[in-house]
Amino acid sequence: MRKQLRLGIMGGTFDPIHYGHLVTAEEALVQFNLDRVVFMPTGIPVRKTHRAVTSAEHRYLMTVIATASNPDFEVSRLEIDRPGPTYTVETIHALRDLYGLHADLFFITGADAVWDILTWKDSAELAEACTFIAATRPGFDLGRFSEERERGIRIETMEVPALAISSTDLRERFAGRRPVRYLTPEAVAAYAEKNSLYSDGTTR
Ligand code: ATP
Ligand code: MG
Repeated sequence: MRKQLRLGIMGGTFDPIHYGHLVTAEEALVQFNLDRVVFMPTGIPVRKTHRAVTSAEHRYLMTVIATASNPDFEVSRLEIDRPGPTYTVETIHALRDLYGLHADLFFITGADAVWDILTWKDSAELAEACTFIAATRPGFDLGRFSEERERGIRIETMEVPALAISSTDLRERFAGRRPVRYLTPEAVAAYAEKNSLYSDGTTR
């Protein structure tokens, strides 16, 4: 019998990707014994229409650059190549088509994002198809998911350092010419600079 694949999915806008994302994925990989983590940059995010998002190709390439040295990380074009807004449940369907029942899917997110996700269109279907791994700040009250667990939603939690890093803060740092070193890989910072992605506070 074929071994069941344990596949982590790290979805995000990655505008730009940073060490918070990378630390979280690595921690999930080890703590949950995953075979690999697939980074999935979103196409047109349904949730972030209040601001212009950097083009998918730039976000995809920064994600590739950031993950290139890790043999257990890969980046998928699944969402960015699909026209129209991104619905995660469609991604899960596509992954099911790809792997059939030979993969257990683990959807990795920040803890705060879990509540958002559970209000999404078709979230029940998503919850049925995968286990959530919610990254929490050290000291976060793990009892906060008890209600979701009672509803049969599988949510595991893990503590990660580096949770204060955000793409929003990074974009502001780029625009304000403040340091981004040690918050995102140098090659990502260089790519963003080279393409003036965030230099004037707007996006490309
Ligand atoms: P923005 O500031 O634009 O919202 P972001 O830093 O939150 O960006 P996203 O691309 O929106 O980055 O996040 C993708 C996923 O990574 C989400 O599940 C989010 O909760 C999680 N995440 C973001 N930042 C961190 C962090 N520092 N530590 C752990 N998880 C994070
Ligand atoms: Mg966010």
